[in-house]
Parts: sequence; structure tokens; C-alpha cells
Amino acid sequence: MPKPETWLKVTSNGLFCVPGDFYLDPIKTVSKAIVTHGHADHARPGHEAVIATPETIEIAKMRMGINTWKTTQPLKYGRNFKFNGVDISLEPAGHVIGSAQVVLTYKGSRVVVSGDYKRRQDPTCDQFKVIQCDAFITEATFALPVFRHPDDHTEIKKLLASLKRNPDRTHLLGAYALGKAQRVIALLREAEYQNPIFLHGAINKVCDLYKKLGVPLGELKSVSQANKKDLTGQIVIAPPSATRDRWSRRFTNPIICFASGWMQIRQRARQRGVELPLIISDHADWDELTQTVVEVEAPDIWVTHGREEALIHYAETKGIRARALSMIGYEEQHE
Ligand SMILES: [Zn+2]
Repeated sequence: MPKPETWLKVTSNGLFCVPGDFYLDPIKTVSKAIVTHGHADHARPGHEAVIATPETIEIAKMRMGINTWKTTQPLKYGRNFKFNGVDISLEPAGHVIGSAQVVLTYKGSRVVVSGDYKRRQDPTCDQFKVIQCDAFITEATFALPVFRHPDDHTEIKKLLASLKRNPDRTHLLGAYALGKAQRVIALLREAEYQNPIFLHGAINKVCDLYKKLGVPLGELKSVSQANKKDLTGQIVIAPPSATRDRWSRRFTNPIICFASGWMQIRQRARQRGVELPLIISDHADWDELTQTVVEVEAPDIWVTHGREEALIHYAETKGIRARALSMIGYEEQHE
């Protein structure tokens, strides 16, 4: 059985499967790619041929135009596809809709490229699946023991309590447009919040796609079609940058909220002028990361973008070989 590092390599374009002759989430334009999910730092424009879940392909077309990838091969979760002697399948990563772990098997050697992932339940996407393998490639965005994300429902209750206390103010909530915004909406609906939720145009577009893909989000309205009075006492969701620019001046005395894993760091919340920080993350926290590196039972863990050292140290204490993959080009924008 070939060792994983002999057939999967880090190149300047990103992670490359040598026998398969394709890249995984390449950071430059390539001829053949497998893309784990639709966020901008993983799904880049211009590739010749792409394998991804049907949902990721839809997201890419919406974000980057219908012809952004010349040919696409949609691969549903759990289906197999053989390419240049490499078995490929995609399994849920629990990060955003359509997000996938890529399972590659070559001559009996199995590697799982997890992409971005989280373990907790999310009403807007399929739950992460544990796949045993010979090498597991993990992200490390929140890989420090201080990062422990609280229960999402508790965070949503904080928002609802603030709404009750402040019926005369608009709650302006910053949330990344793909994934986080829809998850917050779905969590609000689970908490039986039934008012219409008002959206910035960039969020509206993604919500329309989620609805088309079968995720119920309740009544949504566009901010541009509402007047100031309509918005009093309501929730408005916008991309984080919009809550700080000219666009936000249309609201009188809004309460700025922000849903992000980084909100655990109070200083970050303060710097951004966030009055109501909500710790809701689409990435695994420390407990989820350490649970995962044990559960996949891989003798080798490769750690990518983030805080690699602590997770490598943890794996080593469990007798697992671990090393950092120095890959550049992945951002922390969709926390
Ligand atoms: Zn992502």
C-alpha cells in the first residue's frame, strides 16, 4: 500500500493528487479540480473541469457566473467515481450546504481531505460523517483549547431576549452571506421566531438558492423594499462589512450584532463595534477537532490553515503522527 505522502502532495497550486492528476480546492486556475465547498477561498473561478457536489456547483454558478467552470461533474454524497485509478467519493462535512469531505482511495491507501468542517448539528446542511482513513487532512481555524463554541440555541436566545428588551431598535446582524446567514435564520425559526427577517441584497441572493435547494427559511424580505418604520424592532441580516459602511446609516440607532466564532474574543467584538456578539461558528471548535482526529483512527494527521501547533501537539499525545501542511491562500473570512 503506497504511503499517502507519495501520492498526495502540496504544490504552489494547492494540494495535488499525483496519480489522479487533479487538485483539491486549488488556489490557482487548473485543468482538473475537486472542490470541497462554495466559499470563495475554496471554490475559485476558471477551472477547466471540476468535480463537486451538485449544491457546490450551483453556488459556484451563482457566485461566479454560469460558465465559471468549463465542465462540471456533480457527485452526490456517498456515490463513487473512479478517475485515473483513484476512487473518489464525497461525504458531508457539515460546514455549509453541499460541503464535502473528499475521500480518495489509491491502491488501498485512503486519504480524507475534510475541507472546512464542523461536527454540531446544523439545520441547513447534512451532518459531518466520520470516515476512517490512513491520513486525515484537517483544518485548524479554531485549534486552541480556548476556543469552545457554546450551544447555538443559547446564542439565538440572547438575540431574542435583546429583541424583547429593545422593541424600538433594529437589530442589525452581521453574518457571512453563504452558510452563516441561512443557519442563523433556520435557528431563529427553530426557536419559533416567526416575524419576517429583513435581508441585505447579497444575503437575499444566497437565501433564494438555499430555498431552491430545499432549505425552509420562513418569510424573508428585502431591506431595500422596507421603510424605516417597518424595520423597527426587527432583525436585519447583512454581510459583516455592510454593518460598518454607508449602507448601515439607513437604520436609526441600530444594535449591531455579529455571528462568528471569533466573537469569543471580546476584544474583536469591541474593535468592530459589536454590541451583541453571538458565538456561532461554521468551523469545528477545539473539542470537535480533537474528537475528530481521534475518531477517524488515521495514523497520520495533516493540519492545514489555522493554528496548527496545538492540534499537532494534541495528536502526538494520542500517539498519532501529525504535521503541518504549509498551504497559503485560505482565508479566515467566513468564520
Ligand atoms: Zn468554508
